[in-house]
Amino acid sequence: MVKVGILALQGDFDAHKKAVERAGGSAVEVRSAHDLEAVDGLIIPGGESTTMLKLLQEEALMEPLREFGRQHPIFGTCAGAILLANEVSSPAQESLGLIDVGVERNAYGRQLDSRIAAITPEPDFQSRAGSGDMEAVFIRAPIIRRVGPNARVLARYHGDPVLVEDGRQVVATIHPELSTDSRVHELFLRKLA
Ligand code: GLN
Repeated sequence: MVKVGILALQGDFDAHKKAVERAGGSAVEVRSAHDLEAVDGLIIPGGESTTMLKLLQEEALMEPLREFGRQHPIFGTCAGAILLANEVSSPAQESLGLIDVGVERNAYGRQLDSRIAAITPEPDFQSRAGSGDMEAVFIRAPIIRRVGPNARVLARYHGDPVLVEDGRQVVATIHPELSTDSRVHELFLRKLA
């Protein structure tokens, strides 16, 4: 069984642990560079990216995570997507730079502060992960404003990408860990096998 690390410094890591288990993987909490040695991939959960970044810097985890991400899959949701992105705006902040997307924080504004919508994932996602619409949970989400030439958009909401894959890395501005649909976690787990 593949072993997925869940970065457990801050945010909704517990929901990801349960989602990984629902998708058939085993999940362990990661809090140090040493913990990374025992896992095949990592999930960076949603939460508050500025707080998480501060904790990563204090724990000297930025470089170990960059190194880990050069060899292993990482999936970032919401704040995790902000931490993985190459470019962060509104305001700009340091990131791991492991996936070629540009994100604007809190970009949906008040109307879409937190919302649940039904979306239809791209055909590419449906043929690989299973067909059907998906529940999209937004919580003070960033918008993915730029997607690099090698990255693939797997789902959109009102035209904006909400699920993007770039080789080993996956980012979502939505929270699949809060839905019962396991397809996104299953797709990520297959990258670790
Ligand atoms: N708005 C948060 C941030 O900028 C992200 C919100 C989330 O992870 N649900 O870090």
